[in-house]
Amino acid sequence: MNKENNEKKKNPISKFNTFYSNEKSTSNVSTSFNCADSTKDNMARTTHTYGNINNSTTKKGKNLHDVKKGNYSLVLKLICTGQCKSRMDISCKTGLTKMTVTNIIQQLLSDNIVSEGELSTAKSVGRKPVMIFPKENTKFSIGVYIARDEITISLLSLSARIVIKKTIPLTIKETQETLLQKITQGINIIKKDVDIKKIIGIGVACIGPLDLENGVLLSPTDFYGIENVPLKQILEDWSSLPVIVNNDMNAAALAEQLYGDGVGSDHFIYFGITHGVGSGIIANGKLFSGSKGYGGEIGHVSVQSDGPMCSCGNRGCLEVYASMPVFLKKIKHEAVIEDHKIIQSIDDFHFWDLISLAIANDAFAVRKVEELSFIVSTALINAIHILNSSKIFIGHESAQGGEWFAKKIEEQLNRRSMFRKTSVITVGISKFKDHSPIVGSGVLVFDQLFQGNL
Ligand SMILES: [Zn+2]
Repeated sequence: MNKENNEKKKNPISKFNTFYSNEKSTSNVSTSFNCADSTKDNMARTTHTYGNINNSTTKKGKNLHDVKKGNYSLVLKLICTGQCKSRMDISCKTGLTKMTVTNIIQQLLSDNIVSEGELSTAKSVGRKPVMIFPKENTKFSIGVYIARDEITISLLSLSARIVIKKTIPLTIKETQETLLQKITQGINIIKKDVDIKKIIGIGVACIGPLDLENGVLLSPTDFYGIENVPLKQILEDWSSLPVIVNNDMNAAALAEQLYGDGVGSDHFIYFGITHGVGSGIIANGKLFSGSKGYGGEIGHVSVQSDGPMCSCGNRGCLEVYASMPVFLKKIKHEAVIEDHKIIQSIDDFHFWDLISLAIANDAFAVRKVEELSFIVSTALINAIHILNSSKIFIGHESAQGGEWFAKKIEEQLNRRSMFRKTSVITVGISKFKDHSPIVGSGVLVFDQLFQGNL
């Protein structure tokens, strides 16, 4: 604990703040801004929000070029993710000097990545603060979300807005070749109307398991026998763009941390149910992936030790009960037994259909959603007791459950948490709802950009 606190107090970036300050400012914008109680504010906010960058500097030294690039990337991140809208905001949050911030903004303006202007709603008397915004049409990422039954290709702006999106279904005849064909054809369609120079990379959010280091899709269950696909290498050779491959749950967690309701939170669990069940864990401000990159597989936490065999080799895994096709099939079956006329009449039955009924106080639907909430909470409470997280975001297909579903899980978790006397667990729906893995795929690229790796 002491070691962690000591590391948090270090701020290698602010240590070299003066690097930019030593250069003459070329900006014609006033730098007369001040932070209220700046020393206290800088320390608190800097240690809280920028764990990624600070932690990454503990083993290797950094030369001035790296520091300059790190500061530039940090400021870009704060502007693009909406955390800062003015020079004063940036200076207060980062501890960077006013001159340093001004010079970085000048560089970003010169690079045509941000724009500035007065905020029309500002009510202050006198000179209004100059606001900084990311430019929506100068840099993009391409996102590829590979689910079990479809792939979704999207174009994402620097503020994580989906500009274009195309979904291509997968069929039982799929092979590695046809899968790659569909991905490349989808990307070609997406990039047809965009200047290729504006695309900075391709992010692939994919079902697992994955070899994260090499970007290889290993051996997913129920995926047409496709395995060992070197996605990163193939797509980089084909596109000549940097390609970042990660698990779809991890990608969605990153999107929540950078652009969603997880901004400013160093500890949370992103949880998703779709064909599979999984999670992306943010711990100490960083994405947790484990020694081989397989971390966060909450779908394979056993919720019943003598339950049915799971494809993973364990018994009674959460996924055996809660994967969306399994759960919905069970509901349809029980609706027949209990003669539930409405559910029997819906051919293409979705989770939101069940939730709509539950919200309308249908007793059967309420009972079934509560059963799902209980079993999901059984796995989540194990993760909470290990990680000491107190914030959960629900995304993927399960986001269709909305706040009603989230509150059911929240009630369960707070009843079963060993920390209930000192810490309240909050459960909410991802800001991006069931689009979270789609946004996450493109955000994989921006995450690297903000770390100064692109
Ligand atoms: Zn399992």
